[in-house]
Amino acid sequence: MPSSVRAFAAPAARAPLGPTTIERRDPRPTDVELEILYCGICHSDLHQARAEWGEAMFPMVPGHEIVGRVRRVGQDVKRFAPGDLAGVGCFVDSCRACGPCTRGLEQYCEGHLALTYNGTEADGTPTFGGYSQAIVVDEAYALKVPAGLPLERVAPLLCAGITTYSPLKHWRLSPGQRLGVVGLGGLGHMAVKLGAAMGAEVTVFSTSPKKEADARRLGAHAFRVSADAASMGAVAGTFDLVIDTVSASHDVGALLGLLRVDGTLVLVGAPERPLEVPAFSIIPRRRTLAGSMIGGIRETQEMLDFCAAHGIGADVEVIPAQQVNEAYERMLRNDVRFRFVIDTASLG
Ligand code: NAP
Ligand code: ZN
Repeated sequence: MPSSVRAFAAPAARAPLGPTTIERRDPRPTDVELEILYCGICHSDLHQARAEWGEAMFPMVPGHEIVGRVRRVGQDVKRFAPGDLAGVGCFVDSCRACGPCTRGLEQYCEGHLALTYNGTEADGTPTFGGYSQAIVVDEAYALKVPAGLPLERVAPLLCAGITTYSPLKHWRLSPGQRLGVVGLGGLGHMAVKLGAAMGAEVTVFSTSPKKEADARRLGAHAFRVSADAASMGAVAGTFDLVIDTVSASHDVGALLGLLRVDGTLVLVGAPERPLEVPAFSIIPRRRTLAGSMIGGIRETQEMLDFCAAHGIGADVEVIPAQQVNEAYERMLRNDVRFRFVIDTASLG
């Protein structure tokens, strides 16, 4: 018997989110059923609830930064037992057979990637995310939550954490290298913490001068206001790696100017409109403009374990689900320190 659970959903593009009820399937043999405890609010939730990335499916229950407690398991489940903590990130299944899937890069699945919400399961059933009381997921797509960190601070690691950890590892950030982090929001503040823990010298580039003290508290060694051309010019050509987390249109050419020879700027922020890239922002110094999307299951587990070992959690503001529309508005005003997290007890 599928179970009915309470959730918060956007009924249509750009409509405010409100309470609703959704069905969750009975656990299949390899499924775990989680009682969701916390779910982070990612700027991607806002982009999709407002259909800024094109076609979207409504009603939409966003949420892909999920931490919960296992309530039931299917008969063949090996890695989880009732009572265990577990996490779910941005996808709940993939084809498991293509090249990327077999290399642990499920996020780049060339078959069918089942996004946690605004997507479909392999059989076409629409998926619903973590702004809800429970979720059922194959154990192969659930993460072990290490002990020791407050759970509300773990939830954002499932997207903001892995999305910034993965490019730092892929581009081999090493101790002493100079890392730039652009935008100090949910993703940006995780990039600062992770980059500093990996031994890099971290500079934050922000549009919000008032975030300087926070940036330094989070582990940044320097802070620059991106609108200040003279300040940006003073460090042009000096960065090995820049992670761009900006969610809106911005001058990416100016950011490319920060890179030294063979430096890389990685776009993880996903603005609605195309960015303009001047040829001469990348031709000199053989610069690379790259992109990166979340991370695979194996790497997500590695990131969670890294965070546990280094005592890294997100800085969060816990809210009831009823405040999600206000949280979206505050996120648009860059007024977030540094991740909103829904306490799903508020749905009960
Ligand atoms: P967020 O918490 O809202 O942070 C975004 C930050 O970008 C803001 O705090 C602000 O920082 C800066 N910013 C906003 N508008 C700007 C503008 N017009 N010009 C310059 N800077 C601006 O968002 P988030 O949750 O971190 O997500 C950031 C982006 O990453 C979103 O587009 C999201 O969809 C995307 N994302 C991508 C992936 C992936 O796999 N690639 C995964 C998750 C999210 P300052 O105040 O410091 O300037
Ligand atoms: Zn996200």
